[in-house]
Amino acid sequence: MPAHDVLIIGAGLAGQRAALAAADAGASVAILSKVHPVRSHSVAAAGGINAALNPEDSWESHAFDTVKGSDYLGDQDAIEIMCREAPDEILWLEHAGVTFHRNGTGHLGTRAFGGASQARTYYVADITGQAILHVLYERLMMHGERISRYEEWFTTQLLQDESGACVGCVARDIRTGALEVFDAKSVILASGGAGQAFKPTTNALICTGDGIAQAYRIGAPLMDMEMIQYHPTTLAENGFLITEGARGEGAHLYNALGERFMEKYAPNKLELASRDVVSRAEQTEINEGRGFPDGTIALDITKVPRKRTLEALREIVNIGKDFAGVDITREPIHIRPGMHYIMGGVKTDADGQTPIPGLYAAGEVACVSVHGGNRLGANSLLDTLIFGRRSGDHAAARARGTAMPKSPASVLNDAQGEIDSILNRPTGGRRVSEIKNELGETMNRYVAVYRDAEGLATAHEIVRRLKDEAPNAAIDDKGTIFNQDVLAAVELGYMLDVAEATVMAAQERRESRGAQFRTDFPERNDADWLHHITVSKNGDGPALGTAPVTMTRWEPQERTY
Ligand SMILES: Cc1cc2nc3c(=O)[nH]c(=O)nc-3n(C[C@H](O)[C@H](O)[C@H](O)COP(=O)(O)OP(=O)(O)OC[C@H]3O[C@@H](n4cnc5c(N)ncnc54)[C@H](O)[C@@H]3O)c2cc1C
Repeated sequence: MPAHDVLIIGAGLAGQRAALAAADAGASVAILSKVHPVRSHSVAAAGGINAALNPEDSWESHAFDTVKGSDYLGDQDAIEIMCREAPDEILWLEHAGVTFHRNGTGHLGTRAFGGASQARTYYVADITGQAILHVLYERLMMHGERISRYEEWFTTQLLQDESGACVGCVARDIRTGALEVFDAKSVILASGGAGQAFKPTTNALICTGDGIAQAYRIGAPLMDMEMIQYHPTTLAENGFLITEGARGEGAHLYNALGERFMEKYAPNKLELASRDVVSRAEQTEINEGRGFPDGTIALDITKVPRKRTLEALREIVNIGKDFAGVDITREPIHIRPGMHYIMGGVKTDADGQTPIPGLYAAGEVACVSVHGGNRLGANSLLDTLIFGRRSGDHAAARARGTAMPKSPASVLNDAQGEIDSILNRPTGGRRVSEIKNELGETMNRYVAVYRDAEGLATAHEIVRRLKDEAPNAAIDDKGTIFNQDVLAAVELGYMLDVAEATVMAAQERRESRGAQFRTDFPERNDADWLHHITVSKNGDGPALGTAPVTMTRWEPQERTY
């Protein structure tokens, strides 16, 4: 039975950064991922990572932009930490070997991103996530003596001891189907977001909210779950992302009448207003009949010099050609707002600690909350690295004063019983994929850019029905080797938990703030709603609560761009 000081579930940027920090602090580390680590979703990150590194910029300016972007729901103490530590993290990455873009003078070069008062996004063309992830993975391999990698292992549940502390997990070796208990003194969840609960989404198939649901199921509160980011520029057919880097390089948005409509909605920042603002503007144009017949808006990247596009945006040149049949260097491409990111997640402090002793969370699975109601583009990679590192440090320190736990053998039998019950389901019922599609389409219809009480109530009713149906959903593959069918059935349960928490929190927040726009409560209402909404497990169902927003130096103001 594997036993480690620090067990990290997830090997994207948050998980790998946490592993390196914990190993550097002297801990024995296990890092576990349901896909090969460099196939983690972080590999898709395109446009870049924020830091106030230029002498004319300041961390305070970065922090204020982030607070304003969050619509004042972000916790300012955590935001200060993130923005203060950002420049050193970029330099650490650069020294580790990340080939950030350099400008004509040989210095690290930046591009502009939405909601930022300075161009402070550092990037590697439009493959920034891939470039960072590969460098971190090389470092993981260099730390082979301290870091054990469990690649293609799927965690099914977190384990607690009698005192309620988190002491490990159960995981399935995807290659063989064997279940194993992992004992650990500290456990860090770094299992990413839950975009697959929506259809379409920019997120990979693996983003199914596993860690969020697993933490919730053992009593960890979730926070800001109503805050779902719709990215302004995604392809209508399949949800593929056209990076904000395109607008950062100078691309414009037009409606079907040829109007550069952002002049109306954000006269100062135009296309580079924050994402919630741009997505709402686009959706308004579409809803009021000024979009194209396919329910889209035009993104005109021909404004960017062709040479620059081919050099700095080459991935979206390929996406345009391969998935929309459009040469973006010569003609506009049709886009619309699409589900992209969850601001909410497992509630943590700035060291990644959840209220469950021994359980940490970092990256998109977590809610620190540095993004509040709306994440600024290029602040997520930063969040994964800063809070991944801080969690790794803290988890290693905690492990030093903790005895190695030992889970009873019965845990494995129970876990195997649950897998067997999935394998033994009768065939012929509704399929997992059908339920997942209905969930995704429901969320995308009722819990999207614009919401109201009626739509949310419908979504809630459908999610509850799907929760009843899911335990009977049929699977075809009864084998042990790479059985994705059985994993999909488990993931469906996670997505339904996440969806239920999201819908309930959205119903609860009867105001409009950040990504939550309620057409029945169109104003921000600081008097009644300037607090976080939490969702915790109470018996079988979710219970709503509140948590205060931490303010340090920025009082809420009207938010205009
Ligand atoms: C197309 C796209 C482009 C983006 N571009 C940017 C950008 O330019 N800048 C920016 O700041 N942000 C960007 N983002 C957001 C950012 O990429 C993500 O928020 C971030 O990479 C999440 O990293 P993570 O480490 O938290 O999780 P992930 O990278 O998603 O990693 C999750 C890990 O958990 C593992 N895992 C999950 N469940 C289990 C389980 N049950 N058992 C075992 N392992 C499990 C997975 O295998 C994986 O290793 C982008 C997002 C998308 C979708």
